Amino acid sequence: MTDLPALIHSIPKGLFIDGDFVDATNGDTFDVINPSDGSVLAKVASASEADARRALDSICAAQDEWAATPARERSEILRRTFQYLTDHVDELTLLQSAELGRALPDSKAEVTYGAEFFRWFAEEAVRVRGDYRHAPSGAGRIIVHEQPVGPSLAITPWNFPLAMGARKIAPALAAGCTMIIKPASKTPLTMLFLAKALKESGLPDGVLAVVPTGKSANVSALLDDPRLRKLTFTGSTEVGQKLAAEASKHSMKTSLELGGNAPYVVCADADLDKAVKAVAVAKMRGAGQVCIAANRFLVHSSIKDEFIRRATEVMRDFTLGPGTDPGSDYGPLSGEDQLEKVTELVDDALAHGATRHLGDSLPSGLNENGYYFPATVLSDFDADAKLASEEIFGPVLAVQTFDTDEEALKMANSTPFGLAAYLFSENLEHALKLAEGIEAGMVAVNKGALSDPAAPFGGVKESGLGREGGFEGIHEYLEPKFISLPI
Ligand code: NAD
Repeated sequence: MTDLPALIHSIPKGLFIDGDFVDATNGDTFDVINPSDGSVLAKVASASEADARRALDSICAAQDEWAATPARERSEILRRTFQYLTDHVDELTLLQSAELGRALPDSKAEVTYGAEFFRWFAEEAVRVRGDYRHAPSGAGRIIVHEQPVGPSLAITPWNFPLAMGARKIAPALAAGCTMIIKPASKTPLTMLFLAKALKESGLPDGVLAVVPTGKSANVSALLDDPRLRKLTFTGSTEVGQKLAAEASKHSMKTSLELGGNAPYVVCADADLDKAVKAVAVAKMRGAGQVCIAANRFLVHSSIKDEFIRRATEVMRDFTLGPGTDPGSDYGPLSGEDQLEKVTELVDDALAHGATRHLGDSLPSGLNENGYYFPATVLSDFDADAKLASEEIFGPVLAVQTFDTDEEALKMANSTPFGLAAYLFSENLEHALKLAEGIEAGMVAVNKGALSDPAAPFGGVKESGLGREGGFEGIHEYLEPKFISLPI
């Protein structure tokens, strides 16, 4: 089904609790806005605190039976979900482009990426291993048994409406944990679609609850309940740290995927073709609203002018338009708040002496109620301009220069964040030395794409705790139990 009104109509708008889509107890709803034109796409049930507590009751009641369900059965449900999402890729792509404003090719890539977590963790569900050891003293045996951590709460952002949920739900279910998920209020429809996919793939009632809400605190209030054993959050550092502090009151296991501020280091020995081409993904995917988006372009001063000239051509070739329009290469920002923030960062850079190479106006014909921001290239701003150190989350390529490796590393590591980094050098030894020196959880060498469900995704410093995906991802939902034997 690729007719948008019919697709929106087909998606459940209720809270998903105990296997059913239900209205909020007080009947509250909130609007889902299409950022391409400001229109209301749908009204979705808005969970009250009582609804959230009902959801917690249901996942707690389902926990023991789900943990006791054979891993093979859990795995098959995840595999069927992967297939369901793959079979419905066109609908999910259109849906995401409508509720997020993301261009269709980017949405399709996101849906494919998100679906892959269900395949990956279907495979991991049956490979959870314990251990059997001899005590070094010779006085006993050590058995290490991996068991699910228990009922979990996931809170996700809007910028990857499927994948941010998928990489929490899939490993949690694979490990035998039940889960409540609160999607971002800008993009709840994708998560409701996913709830339907899981239900139709055979997920037992109560194992997953999806509780969209217009008031986030109604769900995070659950952190006061010691039955909840895990918080997994993706979003801003500020909110994540606040929620982690609340979760610590009951010593909940916590995973945090927080803000980024990725350096994009282009060395003098880089292949400029690669460094320029990779801008298309590292900067422009999702109009730059990506936690691992290249944020600070650190370019060797000897190639600065050439890099700016060619990167500007790449950015200029991107067509801005409504997310659901097949002619768009990138869409609007996700809402007024994002538009204000990016506008402010660019205005501040201009006030700090920036040269603007691209982006002084919007193309004509865009809906004036949409949250559009043009692809922009800036250089030569003062070091204290805000975008030299803050996460931009928009289609803005901001260039700074360096002369030595020491200077490049100092600049790359000069923020409290450490999520992703990109670096370009044709000398493997040089690249490895820099990759090891950069304070980040992930480093891409000579490429702009980084995410892979088979790899551990996550940050260091104030970019987070824990890893999602890879062999590591399922361990965020497992606790090792040591069983000691006297023999
Ligand atoms: P946000 O922190 O504002 O919101 C994230 C989620 O938290 C949303 O569901 C929101 O409704 C909820 N929330 C906000 N305040 C809350 C509160 N007081 N109590 C409970 N829940 C609350 O972030 P955002 O604007 O949605 O997302 C953008 C940020 O997310 C960026 O900083 C980006 O770098 C980060 N991000 C990180 C990763 C990663 O993997 N590290 C991935 C995607 C996005």
